[in-house]
Amino acid sequence: MKVNWDSNVCIHAGKCVTNAPEVFKIENDTLAIYPDAADEGRVREVVAMCPSGALTVEE
Ligand code: SF4
Repeated sequence: MKVNWDSNVCIHAGKCVTNAPEVFKIENDTLAIYPDAADEGRVREVVAMCPSGALTVEE
């Protein structure tokens, strides 16, 4: 499972980094994503919380 992030769509609401800080981290001014750091269900839940649709799951 892979999570993609579209920086042009992200509105920097921070839901991802707040709700799953082990998966979504700001590194070097970009969003680094470690999908294996939490269980898959939790990652999907947090992706669904993104208000802008910048995050998508790729199987
Ligand atoms: S939750 Fe979505 S809009 Fe908010 S910072 Fe994360 S990717 Fe961007």
